[in-house]
Amino acid sequence: MTLHSAPNSAATYIGRFAPSPTGPLHIGSLIAALASYLDAKAQQGLWLLRMEDLDPPREQAGAAQSILHCLQSHGLHWDGEVLWQSQQQQRYQNAVAQLLAEDKAFYCRCSRSQLAAQRGIHRGNCQAQAPYSHCAVRLAVTEQTLGFDDPLQGRLQQALASEVGDFVIQRKDQLFAYQLAVVLDDALQGVSHVVRGSDLLDSTPRQLLLQQQLALATPKYVHIPIIANSVGDKLSKQTFAPALATQQACLNLLKALFFLNQPLPPKTQQQNCQQILHWAIAHWSLAAVPHCSAIDEICLQHFAS
Ligand code: GLU
Repeated sequence: MTLHSAPNSAATYIGRFAPSPTGPLHIGSLIAALASYLDAKAQQGLWLLRMEDLDPPREQAGAAQSILHCLQSHGLHWDGEVLWQSQQQQRYQNAVAQLLAEDKAFYCRCSRSQLAAQRGIHRGNCQAQAPYSHCAVRLAVTEQTLGFDDPLQGRLQQALASEVGDFVIQRKDQLFAYQLAVVLDDALQGVSHVVRGSDLLDSTPRQLLLQQQLALATPKYVHIPIIANSVGDKLSKQTFAPALATQQACLNLLKALFFLNQPLPPKTQQQNCQQILHWAIAHWSLAAVPHCSAIDEICLQHFAS
């Protein structure tokens, strides 16, 4: 089954997990994967996998394959084929060309130091002229306040013009920005629900604006709390979160369920991943997930590892 374009499936819920192959999966990424999987499966939805490999300099060799293997070891099997962003460049280029042609985006040559003088916020005053090589392309933000209601985080609003400014959709080195690619691919894959970490909350209004400007549908967004280390930093590859041990897959799933404040299966149903996931789908409650943006990793301490 190929699900690269909006699938012909009868599913009205299409969710996805979209890891970047910058390192192996850690407990924080498993929590995000599991939450999006359970929310989709509890609603008889599809759960797609997209590899966000659009920034080769940040990639770690072998990470993409290790992520896929790790998900499978935890019983998290995706529907359809993996969508690789590295194979979608032409679509991204076409969208940039369309936004430029419609004057919704513009070429920019501003340097970091020029932007620093404006608190890093770009407002449409540079509009570089041809030739266009070695220029970034920015989306011209509109003066509106963009917002959405998140079932866990409440209402989030952003005045993009004053808080973010015109943002990059294609970098100076010609690589496409995450914000552009994520919006185009969520639309291509027919994603109806995005369940992801609260570290991406700030990005959502930019994605709403891109959807408006490209006339694409807006999925429902849910941002689950991220796991933070003792000094409050997000557990991530940058903060040296350890890679998940696949030989402890059941324990990892139980930890992730505990973090998400879901009931744990009885001991007799903790023997393999399929049993745990089966239980977790049947008992999934989005409303029970803590309504906060971060939780200290200390909460997982009572699980022996
Ligand atoms: N690729 C992004 C990450 O690994 C996630 C993008 C998304 O879920 O929208 O942080």
